[in-house]
Amino acid sequence: MTTDVQLSSLYQQVILDHYRKPKNKGDLEEATATVFMENPVCGDEIRLQVRIEGDEIVEARFVGSGCSISQASISMLTQVLKGKKLDEAALLANRFTEMMHGDETAARDRSLKDLRALQGVSKFPVRIKCALLGFDALKEVLDRSRSEE
Ligand code: ZN
Repeated sequence: MTTDVQLSSLYQQVILDHYRKPKNKGDLEEATATVFMENPVCGDEIRLQVRIEGDEIVEARFVGSGCSISQASISMLTQVLKGKKLDEAALLANRFTEMMHGDETAARDRSLKDLRALQGVSKFPVRIKCALLGFDALKEVLDRSRSEE
């Protein structure tokens, strides 16, 4: 089990890096969709903004406050989202949700990139909502863009 402990502390570092130095944080000019989500249980808040051109997410930014898991997760998410087609983004959200519910196959999916660092959170049910908050916002963005078609 030593390896597991080492791996989780390594992943912990990736989470802390994103928390301390978030990627894509700030307002997005010319956003085509803005979604606000909160997790009152933990006190997390995020606002995800994306610019969609055709069926591609060309830009993603966020602002927010709350625990390291919620903020690192949305930071990692915005990093992965740029350049994704809408259906690829939907797949990504499903993959991540599966991983949060303990799916080992999903956890090995390299397309999740840094988001895989959050796998350990799946062992802490109260924190899963923190990790999924950004994805709840993404799903809302995708639902809206579908209803506009
Ligand atoms: Zn939280």
